[in-house]
Amino acid sequence: MARIALRGRLIDFVADPIASAAAVRLVDDGLLLIDDGRIVARGEYGPLSRALGPDREVTDFTGCLLLPGFVDAHTHFPQLDIVASASGGLLNWLTQHTYPAEMRFADPVVCEEAARFFLDELAANGTTSACVLGTVHAQSVEALFTEAQARGMRLVAGKCLMDRNCPPELADRGDQGMHETLSLAARWHGKGRLGYAITPRFAASSTDRQLKLAGELARSRPDLYVQSHLAENEEEVRWVRELFPRARSYLDVYESFGLLRERSVYAHCIWLDATDRRHFALARATAAVCPGSNLFLGSGTFDFARAVEAGMKIALATDVGGGPTLSMLATMRAAHDVARMRGSSLSATQLFYWATRGAAQALGWDDQVGTLESGAEADVVVLDPAATPLLAKRAAAADSVESLLFALMVLGDDRAVRETFIAGRPSKGRRKPTLSGASAADNARTRELARRFMGRLRIAPGDGVLKP
Ligand SMILES: [Zn+2]
Repeated sequence: MARIALRGRLIDFVADPIASAAAVRLVDDGLLLIDDGRIVARGEYGPLSRALGPDREVTDFTGCLLLPGFVDAHTHFPQLDIVASASGGLLNWLTQHTYPAEMRFADPVVCEEAARFFLDELAANGTTSACVLGTVHAQSVEALFTEAQARGMRLVAGKCLMDRNCPPELADRGDQGMHETLSLAARWHGKGRLGYAITPRFAASSTDRQLKLAGELARSRPDLYVQSHLAENEEEVRWVRELFPRARSYLDVYESFGLLRERSVYAHCIWLDATDRRHFALARATAAVCPGSNLFLGSGTFDFARAVEAGMKIALATDVGGGPTLSMLATMRAAHDVARMRGSSLSATQLFYWATRGAAQALGWDDQVGTLESGAEADVVVLDPAATPLLAKRAAAADSVESLLFALMVLGDDRAVRETFIAGRPSKGRRKPTLSGASAADNARTRELARRFMGRLRIAPGDGVLKP
């Protein structure tokens, strides 16, 4: 049995900061005892350390913060190859970048390589759980689950269902997509820490029949997740209105097919009205808010104030590759900025809650993750407030948890993530980012990639010209 202990400043949440002024819990010099992937005790370093046996090694992160690992409630693992690609908004982004990139996932080798890279990147950013969309190919999700299972991760994923308004290479034929969904769910849902999500890509890319079958499955299997996109961009909303003229709203399309319920996770939720928000909250669905993606694609700004007022469950999400980063710190910063643009303010405490315990609760993982409580699974992120000179200087002036967390989310990125523990296993160090620190095999691969890449860059006429 693996028995470890982590020393550092423990910060987690016992309530939603919106509802309680005493939501944050802090142990300045704390200790977490972890046996076989689970937290078995937590508390002050002094008294706990005196009771430690000789078989337990203490890793000293004094000066760093130990928090529950981040939860990314919506992202796309096949899109890391196109992250940071310029686009003219959502629909252009899908046709110009997303669909061509996703076609490559017909090849299982591409799927396996992408799954490994993606999970390494999540860990590098302190993210220990995520809701992930694959491509339309069953093998993409198969590869992701296989890799996540090997790492002992808590992860939700699903293959995209789409059978219209997409390239023929990416379209489900007949009911094949639903058959694959059933077979993937049977193989993976509930295995280890994994969960399956019925994943219609978005209303516009599924026929009525596909949405109806997906809804029937969602009704008969409330234990499965549902994930999709909702009201991201005005042009998309208009298109959905044309495709479903009888629906009251975009949300109503999903609701009428039985896809709006607890364990349904909808990305974006920007262009909703008051009725939508009320229905969404009543259904106990989760809004996966993707402010980084919304800013990058110019989709709009999520209305945090109205969503909170309506009682909607909120979790933060990166939405890579529409989002420019897998960093939940950067995502919190973007959320803060989006709220400011709408005239409201969000505290760092609230944003960290939505990236940890709030997300875990929204996804039904209550006391399993998102907390450093004894008995929880040991998914822990170690944040270093001295990761960069500027962050160190600013953090030194912080006089409260809020102020320190605020500095971390504004100035921090993956450099501030000292280590990521997934079920008690250190997972950040798997990645060797530089040639000097890498293995011979990694170096050979990097050189091979460089060799293939050299000479491929061209300057096309019109490159760099601003298009209105
Ligand atoms: Zn998305």
